[in-house]
Amino acid sequence: MSDVQLDNTQVSALSPQAQQSDDTATLLEVRNLKKYFSVKGGLLRRTVAYVKAVDDVSFAVRKGETLGLVGESGCGKTTVGRTLLRLEQATAGEVLFDGRNVLTFSGSAMKALRRDLQIIFQDPYSSLDPRVHIGESVAEGLTIHGIGDREERVQKVREALIKVGLHPSHMQRFPHEFSGGQRQRIGIARALVMNPRLIVADEPVSALDVSVQSQVLNLMRTLQHEFGMAYLFIAHNLSVVEHISDRVAVMYLGKIVELADRKGLFTSPRHPYTKALISAIPVPNPRARRQRIILQGDVPSPLNPPSGCRFHPRCWMARAICREVEPTFEEKVPGHWSACHFSEEVIDSLPARQ
Ligand code: SF4
Repeated sequence: MSDVQLDNTQVSALSPQAQQSDDTATLLEVRNLKKYFSVKGGLLRRTVAYVKAVDDVSFAVRKGETLGLVGESGCGKTTVGRTLLRLEQATAGEVLFDGRNVLTFSGSAMKALRRDLQIIFQDPYSSLDPRVHIGESVAEGLTIHGIGDREERVQKVREALIKVGLHPSHMQRFPHEFSGGQRQRIGIARALVMNPRLIVADEPVSALDVSVQSQVLNLMRTLQHEFGMAYLFIAHNLSVVEHISDRVAVMYLGKIVELADRKGLFTSPRHPYTKALISAIPVPNPRARRQRIILQGDVPSPLNPPSGCRFHPRCWMARAICREVEPTFEEKVPGHWSACHFSEEVIDSLPARQ
């Protein structure tokens, strides 16, 4: 597969998510973002199809908030994060940071923006050079951007390591001398040292033990309170997202199907897919009962998504209209958006016993 650059003509005016958010509080706004990968075939290696990894996605991240972006593996959530950071080239759409479309930025403008926009990877080990001391790795962004002299950079790295719960003496160690949780703290320190305004955290705890996960999540929350940065928190695990997010967007097969504040989403889901994901979260109280909804079938291929509502082959609420008409992503109640023809019925509906 390779990237494809298509037209940008389908970019609409202000996205619904941005309309409903307070403009002064919006830090990042993604409008009608698409990322298609071309599939080559035949002797001449011509494009024979497109994988629509991200297909017309719009949302906004407000200053200082955490927006969780959740969905099954392969739904396109990681591609959203990589595309808005320009680690992938967008096929169409806009990504506005402080009102400016970063997809049109030159190399130097993008380099300057990277001070404000940082990323934390799922596997921090792969982003750390095994031959380089941690102090140097954490200082890398400062060095690239020419921030401070050597002494000032060392001081900033010391402070960042302390903030993430490590010791300044760790600066002289190599990545292999740390545990998984400590490496993720180093990944956070690398982002933090730049004093960013938005961090895209791509599955930052999914490779960690459960006991370590909550420590890292609590650390991220604490740092957010202290420094005021926003997070776009990408994860496949809804319970992790629930722990840290102010609002949550749910993706399915390249599209956002529901977006709401945390409480609204978890207590009154308005899309059957969200309801199924919530039903899979373990309940801590053994006496509490919740019917687990087991979705039938696999996620369809984004090469050839189903007609109408993409979720219809797996949806227990599907009716004839769902196979033919794609539901609009719209605000059902203030602040709560969903793409389902029968969203008001979701709360009470359950599949037949499985
Ligand atoms: Fe299910 Fe129809 Fe709603 Fe899609 S539109 S989620 S198929 S009820």
